[in-house]
Formats: sequence, structure tokens, C-alpha cells
Amino acid sequence: MRKNNRGALIVFSGPSGSGKGTVLGEYFKSHPEAAFSVSATTRKPRPGEIDGTSYHFVSRERFEEMIREGEVLEYTQYNGNYYGSPAGPIRKELEAGRDVVLEIEVDGAMQVRERFPEALLIFVLPPSFGELERRLTGRGTETPEEIAGRLAAARRELRQAHRYDYLLINDQVEEAAARLGEIIRAAKCTPARNELLLQEFSEE
Ligand code: ADP
Ligand code: 5GP
Repeated sequence: MRKNNRGALIVFSGPSGSGKGTVLGEYFKSHPEAAFSVSATTRKPRPGEIDGTSYHFVSRERFEEMIREGEVLEYTQYNGNYYGSPAGPIRKELEAGRDVVLEIEVDGAMQVRERFPEALLIFVLPPSFGELERRLTGRGTETPEEIAGRLAAARRELRQAHRYDYLLINDQVEEAAARLGEIIRAAKCTPARNELLLQEFSEE
């Protein structure tokens, strides 16, 4: 229904281990037209992560240069590392009419909301805190200390969930991905996101 040529800016947050990456992977299978914003980070790659696909893995020096040069749309420090969304590729994709998904934490999400009020903010919840702990432990990619740090961060992040437009409970991956598609479709039908269409009707 949209006459807007620009794509939608979609922010996807949730505690580490809630299943953001897994649900997005499933979503992109059926939405190859959408773009994933590859963030820059100073953390070390996990096994299986590919530079330029999962993240742009950069040094602290390079990241601080990106901040100085205004190359990031938003950024934060999380568990001792920098994470940020490169601005150039996001602008390009939106201008080309493609939806762009940013998988970022709460602090960055609020920076996006400030700069782009029309952005769609979605928060992923695990079915329970116990299940979050099981998933983080089961993933086997962090040390027990790192897991403890992420669980403490999760408690803080979950308290911010009400600041988002939609909650997405990740119970079954396929169902959660399908619901994500429904949320995005519905959000694209709001008057605020269809200014051009409405303007056409107000012209004499
Ligand atoms: P995040 O990207 O939010 O940090 P991941 O996508 O890496 O989380 O998921 C964390 C762990 O939980 C992974 O091992 C993943 O396979 C598992 N997981 C994700 N979604 C589900 C689900 N709906 N049911 C069971 N396990 C899940
Ligand atoms: P992880 O180390 O598990 O990949 O990510 C840790 C946290 O950083 C997650 O909550 C993830 O969503 C967030 N994150 C990843 N990229 C960015 C980014 O570009 N900006 C911000 N603000 N957070 C990010």
C-alpha cells in the first residue's frame, strides 16, 4: 500500500541469547528483499562468524575513528566492547527502497528513535528468564563469566521493553519469524508511515 519510496528502518533488540539472530535468519529466508545492517564491533569473532557478514570486526582505534568521522548512525559500549551501525550502507539501502533491519541493543535503539522517529522498534523476549539462561549456556560461545555479565545486562534490558513499539516472544523460531513479518506488514500501514499517499489525497 505504501507510496513511500524509502524502505522501513527496523530495529530489533532483545537480551543476548533471546534468539534475535536465529529469528532474523528465519525471517530473511522468506524476505530476501530486506537488508541486514552489518554492525561494526571491537569484540572478537565467535567461531563461525564471518567478517563483513556477521559483523565488521575492527580495532578500538578504527572504531573511535568511525565515531569521530560520523560514520556510525548510533553506537554503544557493551560488555567492554564497542558496537555501532555504519550509517552509509543503511542510508543507501533505505533510499533504494529496501527495508533495513538493525539488530542492536537498547541504548542504540533509543538513539535511532531520536534520530528517526518513524523507525519501527521491536523487542524480542524469551519465553522465560530460565529459558534465556538455558539458551545462552546451550549456545556454548561465552565463558561462565561472560554469561553472568550477559544475564545481568538482560535484567536491565528487559526493564526497557516497554519503550518499544512491539514485543515478539520467541517461543518457536518459525512462528516468531512469521509474527515478525506480520508486525512489519502492519506497521507499514500506519498513517505516519504513509505521508506521501495521504498527501496525494489532500492535493486539489
Ligand atoms: P541472540 O542473537 O539473541 O544472542 P541466538 O539467536 O544466538 O540469540 O540464540 C541463542 C541460542 O538459543 C542459540 O543456541 C539458538 O540456537 C537458541 N534458540 C534461538 N531461538 C530458539 C527457540 N525458539 N527455541 C529454542 N532455542 C532457540
Ligand atoms: P553480541 O556480542 O551477542 O553479538 O552482541 C551483544 C549486543 O550488542 C546485542 O544486544 C546486540 O544486539 C548488540 N549490538 C550488535 N550490534 C550493535 C550495534 O551496531 N549497535 C548497538 N547499539 N548494539 C549492537
